[in-house]
Amino acid sequence: MITKEQVITNIGSGWHSHIETIYAMLPELSFCSGVYLIERKNGMLHVIFSRTDLTTPAQDFILKSIEYKIERLTAKVCEECGQYGVRRTELSTVKTLCTRCYAFEYSKLNPVPSLVANQEPHIV
Ligand SMILES: [Zn+2]
Repeated sequence: MITKEQVITNIGSGWHSHIETIYAMLPELSFCSGVYLIERKNGMLHVIFSRTDLTTPAQDFILKSIEYKIERLTAKVCEECGQYGVRRTELSTVKTLCTRCYAFEYSKLNPVPSLVANQEPHIV
């Protein structure tokens, strides 16, 4: 079982409200003993609930539905800041980012050369 505190340290703050939602709904899922895993996967939040206490197929279906819904929600939320975002597949790791966070991440990976086009060339 993984605790909320363990998850929060590994996931960007833009998705923390979704993680809060996951743990807040646990008491209402009497057939689920906890969260087995939460990780970033393909630029989305991948959740797996524990299934050790399930007694019917319907309970499994409910957990799968919640896991899927959370994954789809995080595909539209910037994992850094929580604004509207889209999955950015051209980065070294697929991330869901807003335009501002994407520009910041892109510039970290592709630094601008010191000599830019509108400067006079330096003659040495
Ligand atoms: Zn952002």
